[in-house]
Amino acid sequence: MAKRPSVRTITEPAREIKVCREADVVVVGGGPGGIGSAIAAARSGAKTVLIERYGHLGGMATGGLVNIIPNLSDIYGKQHLYGLNQELIDRLDRRGGTSYPKKEDWGTTDRKVVDYYLDANLGWFHVRHDYKTDKQRVHYTAVVDPEILKDELNDMVLEAGVDLLLHSWGTRTITDGNTVRGVYFESKSGRQAILGKVIIDATGDGDIFVSAGAEMDNDCDNKRRTAWLALVFWMANVDIRKLDHFRASQPDKWGELLQELSRLGGYPNFFKGILRNQPGVLWYHCMQPQPERTDAMDVEQLTRIDIKSRKRALVTYDFMKKHVPGFENAYIMLTAPQLGTQGGRRIVGEYTLSEKDLETDEVFPDTIAVLANNDFGEISSNHPALCIPYRCLVPKRVDGLLVAGRAFSSADTVNETFNIIPHCIAYGQAAGTAAAMAARDGIQPRKVDYTALRENLGKQGVNLPKIK
Ligand SMILES: Cc1cc2nc3c(=O)[nH]c(=O)nc-3n(C[C@H](O)[C@H](O)[C@H](O)COP(=O)(O)OP(=O)(O)OC[C@H]3O[C@@H](n4cnc5c(N)ncnc54)[C@H](O)[C@@H]3O)c2cc1C
Repeated sequence: MAKRPSVRTITEPAREIKVCREADVVVVGGGPGGIGSAIAAARSGAKTVLIERYGHLGGMATGGLVNIIPNLSDIYGKQHLYGLNQELIDRLDRRGGTSYPKKEDWGTTDRKVVDYYLDANLGWFHVRHDYKTDKQRVHYTAVVDPEILKDELNDMVLEAGVDLLLHSWGTRTITDGNTVRGVYFESKSGRQAILGKVIIDATGDGDIFVSAGAEMDNDCDNKRRTAWLALVFWMANVDIRKLDHFRASQPDKWGELLQELSRLGGYPNFFKGILRNQPGVLWYHCMQPQPERTDAMDVEQLTRIDIKSRKRALVTYDFMKKHVPGFENAYIMLTAPQLGTQGGRRIVGEYTLSEKDLETDEVFPDTIAVLANNDFGEISSNHPALCIPYRCLVPKRVDGLLVAGRAFSSADTVNETFNIIPHCIAYGQAAGTAAAMAARDGIQPRKVDYTALRENLGKQGVNLPKIK
């Protein structure tokens, strides 16, 4: 047997930790899953604390510069996601913080309209291929301004009565046997503890459930986008008209340049129309397959990828400026403050969504969300929406704990399509509502009555199918 390298260890001395809060519901992580959880729990009457490691809310939707909220409708233009998702879009709309295709255009195959959304500043995100008719269709996807979003999320969380602690990094659960009773967190104020009746792990990476010993899965095929890390950046002051003219008039030259850029290690893929009223900003979605499986939980890999990604952003910038018309006065406006992760650990829950669920159209008795399946394959045309059971958020065996966000219980093949921002907000809304009910009734989250949970979600405007 190969000898394992010995790792030097030391023992951390035991110490008294201040309990700084006692709450009904404690949410760790303020991304889409966390804000959904915290707002829903507090609005449901629970004393709720939300801790977030950075100085703003929104997770990847703000700090990761992933400012696209896709698939609010399915490929045929039918809206499934309402509730907090629609409320957020409405609030952003009132502040000029979002843009999306006109309602009357959702689902259309009209070539002129499709081309408008493909060509104009609204970009490619609004169009999907319908395999049944072999035509492209416009659907409801919103682009949001991340700075307005940060402020709006603060407002929504505080208005709901959530006790918010920013700059607070959740580290471990406080457990009693199989039951989670609270979390430790680190901040500039030192290590402190928060006790709660239900803890919601909304860290995306499952930082909290792993310390509770919950069963998890982090298997992910390296070819999936969820296995890749990415640093998004914005290139500003690009003359789009000139760029588009060059691409249209010299497609071969354009193709050669992109190949050369890839060879040099730059990022060839970008999208336009990502910032409302700023057509000259390009969004570089620099997600590229890594040569080896990257582990978002390994600090050494995270460091290497961050350094490498920045280098590649600069290679892209230098190359485009030198060779591509339209980039003469361009500059890198911003790199994402937060390295993009979307895979990572997934909880093994009471139910695990698998590939077979994509094609069965099953309405689960505990359905807490209906999500559009706007992937890029044929399944989305034949099965445009999928029901998500509450049990995907409930860990097996460990009590006092729920999971909201991309770490929901799912096979990697399904997680890839159903871990996006609006989905995570919907998981959060369900987890927060269930946590508040469990705390109020003094029961474990797995014992929450499905019918009552669904009724409560319905009262919050969540669109749910009837159970036969
Ligand atoms: C490059 C890239 C492009 C993407 N494109 C899109 C897209 O176009 N549209 C879309 O909808 N989705 C997209 N996704 C996926 C989507 O962004 C994520 O799946 C989604 O944000 C997950 O939400 P979440 O709340 O589970 O996790 P996150 O968004 O990761 O939020 C987790 C939050 O928890 C905080 N946190 C983490 N650990 C701790 C801790 N220990 N203590 C305290 N706080 C903690 C983080 O700071 C963060 O705020 C993309 C992802 C990437 C990486």
